[in-house]
Amino acid sequence: MTDLDVTATTAVLELENALQGELVRPSDPTYDEQRRVWNGSIDRRPALIARCAGVADVITAVQFARRTGTELAVRSGGHSFPGLSVADGALVADLAPMKGIRVDPEARTARAQSGVLLGELDSETQRFGLAVPAGIVTHTGLAGLTLGGGIGWLMRKYGLTIDQLLSVDVVTADGELVRASENENADLFWGVRGGGGNFGIVTEFEFRLNPLGPEVVAGPVFWPMEDSPEVLRFYRDWLADAPDELMTIVVHRKAPPLDFVPAEFHGQPVVIVACCYAGPVDRGKEVVRPLKEFGSPIIDLCEPKPFLAHQAMFDPSFPHHRWYYFKSLDVPALTDDVIDITVEHSQRIESPLTAFPIWQLGGAISQVGEHESAYSGRDAAFTYNIGACTEGADGFEEERQWVRDFWDALEPYQAGVYVNFLGDEGQDRVRESYGAGKYVRLQELKRRYDPDNFFHVNQNIPPG
Ligand SMILES: Cc1cc2nc3c(=O)[nH]c(=O)nc-3n(C[C@H](O)[C@H](O)[C@H](O)COP(=O)(O)OP(=O)(O)OC[C@H]3O[C@@H](n4cnc5c(N)ncnc54)[C@H](O)[C@@H]3O)c2cc1C
Repeated sequence: MTDLDVTATTAVLELENALQGELVRPSDPTYDEQRRVWNGSIDRRPALIARCAGVADVITAVQFARRTGTELAVRSGGHSFPGLSVADGALVADLAPMKGIRVDPEARTARAQSGVLLGELDSETQRFGLAVPAGIVTHTGLAGLTLGGGIGWLMRKYGLTIDQLLSVDVVTADGELVRASENENADLFWGVRGGGGNFGIVTEFEFRLNPLGPEVVAGPVFWPMEDSPEVLRFYRDWLADAPDELMTIVVHRKAPPLDFVPAEFHGQPVVIVACCYAGPVDRGKEVVRPLKEFGSPIIDLCEPKPFLAHQAMFDPSFPHHRWYYFKSLDVPALTDDVIDITVEHSQRIESPLTAFPIWQLGGAISQVGEHESAYSGRDAAFTYNIGACTEGADGFEEERQWVRDFWDALEPYQAGVYVNFLGDEGQDRVRESYGAGKYVRLQELKRRYDPDNFFHVNQNIPPG
């Protein structure tokens, strides 16, 4: 069915009448704004965008798409790297308006609807000194991040975002609303914890909360990039005895022209180690001291601060609508070879906007059994999120080639890949990200919950 067929039918008028939220058509003045996603290099034109106000709207959107044979894309935060929340000619079920959050400080649980962004959830939970471990940029969508696993500053202490999940409400391909938890539809609960949006549309999440801060020792330490070979070797050895409370991310980039960066370093290549200690401030200070004292840092902002301030630290580096391209992989260790490749390719970064993170994994993530959820790669040590960024099309191709060359050089050391860090890389990569055994189990689950592969605008697991 073409855009025109769809927009012209009476079914569309029925859809519009049935929705509590707005239906956006290509002719509407807000259409161009509403179809945009975080990654500015994605430029797709859906037939319709249903701004879902609640569960009933989600069911209505599913039923419309099934009845009319329209492709359905599901959007929460719109942060999928390859733009898997919008498709040409599709109906987008846009869950962004669904912002409900309810924290129960006594029971230490929180409920959050699918349109919630990470920073919004943190603001509610941190008011009570509690937190759900999630990602590192406040404007990322909670839904997509959780459904792929969810890695971030608190994961080594408390586990992945999915490890805190108590239940989910899911609209299935039949338009039914079901609940999944350890005790109810347990197979579906297993699948949504890592299997993405393949089995239905999650409308609400229920999480366990963990104590945190609100003050933590956290922040970045900068050295000139020429020190990177020594910094990375020190870093690797220092982490060998790191407590689970400590989580770190290494970034290579050209120093941004932000207030806290002295003017003489603006645009200069730097290596950054950013930390977050999810425990008592005094102990945190002791743990990070060796890092702060290594070599001659040019900037040191690793100090006690509110967790909410730390969570927003990377926001300026990953704003909406710049052009981005990522390729990712896990490595089992930062060997000398891996470090040498990292240094060599980091020195070739051209764009002043490119900033690529290497994430320290392990800790509580690896203490959960590999088969307890669909998420894979619990024993990986580090994950490389090699990402390029430019303001627009200018220089994008060159920076993208830099990503590919870097990734090719690291590929021999690859030990898996996090599904939420995949680009548009094809079926084999999705299979690789789950591993062959788990992939077969996911395909069986898909046959049960979505045999027609209705939900396929995602890192797709076809029923097989
Ligand atoms: C700036 C930035 C920072 C990031 N930081 C982190 C991080 O710290 N940790 C981490 O683990 N990941 C991180 N990611 C990756 C992130 O987890 C994924 O991009 C994730 O898909 C984003 O979710 P979203 O809801 O914003 O995305 P969307 O683009 O809206 O959706 C992504 C996918 O999930 C599906 N989906 C979305 N909502 C639902 C739903 N309610 N039910 C069913 N399917 C749904 C969509 O159809 C799509 O296939 C980051 C991404 C960006 C762009």
